Amino acid sequence: MRRLNWLGVWAVVLASMGLLALVRLAQTAPPELPEPTVSQSAPADAPGELVFCVIGDMQQGGEPKRLQIVSRLAAAMAEERPQVVLACGDYIDGSSDPATSRRQLAQVLQALSPLQRHGEVPLAAALGNHDRALPSSVLRATFGPPYYSFNLGQCHFVVLDTQQPGQYGRIEGEQWAWLIDDLQQAQAARFIFVVMHQPLFPVSVHRGSSLDKYPRFRDRLHELFVRMRVACVFHGHEHLYNRQERDGVTYVITGGGGAPLYADELRGGFYHYLRVDVTGAEYRVTVKRLN
Ligand SMILES: [Zn+2]
Repeated sequence: MRRLNWLGVWAVVLASMGLLALVRLAQTAPPELPEPTVSQSAPADAPGELVFCVIGDMQQGGEPKRLQIVSRLAAAMAEERPQVVLACGDYIDGSSDPATSRRQLAQVLQALSPLQRHGEVPLAAALGNHDRALPSSVLRATFGPPYYSFNLGQCHFVVLDTQQPGQYGRIEGEQWAWLIDDLQQAQAARFIFVVMHQPLFPVSVHRGSSLDKYPRFRDRLHELFVRMRVACVFHGHEHLYNRQERDGVTYVITGGGGAPLYADELRGGFYHYLRVDVTGAEYRVTVKRLN
């Protein structure tokens, strides 16, 4: 465990079936913000045995006021009492000026601090393409390794990096070999969840330039997920909400974490996060909209 004084962030790397990297946000007092107004797509039942949240794409689009959206979503997620929050990448816009990128990172981490309203909530974060504006050393110190896995309850979680240097938009090389081995070892898990930035099956402006840019690599990844009975894959990159079922695998794009939206409301263009309840032999994903 090491303290990053310049960000005020705890980065914790634990060994668990490989590597587990969870970012713990600083124990600073959250800023005073208006109470979030959240609606849900289904009535809430009693909390499941495992509750986690998922959020994607908090980049500001050049508008720092968008950090207010991030803060309101973080405050709302804190009320879910999640055991972990998965994040799908693109925390910053990024800049050719390293100091600007670092400032954006510090700002978004501060905006996320309301997550700790009721105690520390670890953040398991996939990296996005915009985040690559930061030096690898900063990314690793803040978010841990670029890909890793961990177990929580009887579930297995895998964080993948869709922007490995020289492998943008595809999972190959060492990461691919590691993923096959990791999923094979996780077959006793009740559910396997995957979080990554770029979608396999984009639906909006990033069609043709996400993992679908390399169909051979995309298809073998999908086939691996099917064969290894991955339950649900969470992505960002497209700033909207979308859900698809393919061969028994659920693919969710959850890119409504504060970045400028890509679609109108009817096509998933709304700010939101996901609440996931795992209970017995079921898991349920509930879309939580910020009004
Ligand atoms: Zn992106």
